[in-house]
Amino acid sequence: MKYYILFGPPGAGKGTQAGAISAKYNLKHISTGELLRAEIAAGTELGKQAKDLIEAGKLVPDSVVEGMIESTFNNNKNVAGFLLDGFPRTLGQAADLDEMLARRGEKVNAVISIMIKDETIKNRLQHRAQIEGRADDANEETIKNRIVTYHNQTEPLITYYKNAGKYHEVDGECGDIEDVRKEMFRVFKGIDRKFLERVPGASGST
Ligand code: ATP
Ligand code: MG
Repeated sequence: MKYYILFGPPGAGKGTQAGAISAKYNLKHISTGELLRAEIAAGTELGKQAKDLIEAGKLVPDSVVEGMIESTFNNNKNVAGFLLDGFPRTLGQAADLDEMLARRGEKVNAVISIMIKDETIKNRLQHRAQIEGRADDANEETIKNRIVTYHNQTEPLITYYKNAGKYHEVDGECGDIEDVRKEMFRVFKGIDRKFLERVPGASGST
């Protein structure tokens, strides 16, 4: 089983790119943000706890997202691997993920990061607020907090994964969505060629 992490600040385009990558390589896409929004929409106890934190631009507790991640691993046996989107987001989550995978005899195979500037984060989230109506995109204060949260809590993961020799970066502003997607496929091919060539349809050019 392969474990790839799609990394990047809010609005980098993780959700946008994840679909094509997971379809091409038969990976199960797990977005902790989407799972949390589903819990909120369903009005579950977990959703109620997460709502205020998310709308304040803060992170939900590590244990909450880790539980969702582990049950997704357990419930998807017939995939080639997993594409984690929005997780891990703290050094604690990264360490816990390493432990969780070690218990399964597995490891993180690679991290692909989509990088954009703070100003681009702000512009994209404001734009998305009008299209998707997400409560955590709508408010300028929340956006500011999410950017601060990213730099304080999530950005240190770059060094963590660089030190592990697993970090790869794509410029999220190199062109349009299609251009970024091509760049991502190029990087993917460089990191795990043997595996990716065995997946049906994965060996051809994009
Ligand atoms: P993108 O636009 O690149 O998909 P995003 O930052 O806009 O990313 P999500 O990943 O959907 O949005 O996350 C939305 C919110 O859900 C976060 O701001 C945070 O409050 C919460 N959340 C998501 N993943 C985690 C996590 N791993 N740990 C803690 N909180 C999380
Ligand atoms: Mg997302």
